[in-house]
Amino acid sequence: MKTTRKGLREGEIYKDTYERPTCSNCEMVLKKENDPEEVYAVRICPECDRRWKELHWRHGDCARQEREVKIEVQMNSNACLA
Ligand SMILES: [Zn+2]
Repeated sequence: MKTTRKGLREGEIYKDTYERPTCSNCEMVLKKENDPEEVYAVRICPECDRRWKELHWRHGDCARQEREVKIEVQMNSNACLA
């Protein structure tokens, strides 16, 4: 499977006016499928079923950061109640 970056470079994918990756053949916005076991998401064209993988190396970091922010908010709200 090619990466979305390669697909964009080779003209198989382009970004529409909303910056969404779109299949050049079908002019369909690609669907996104996340695999929690993998370090990448898969972009699929709903029309021709072509697939590209979208790398997101810092995915783990993002998830952790999000959790930390939530905990912080929780702590703050408890402080307000006390
Ligand atoms: Zn397509």
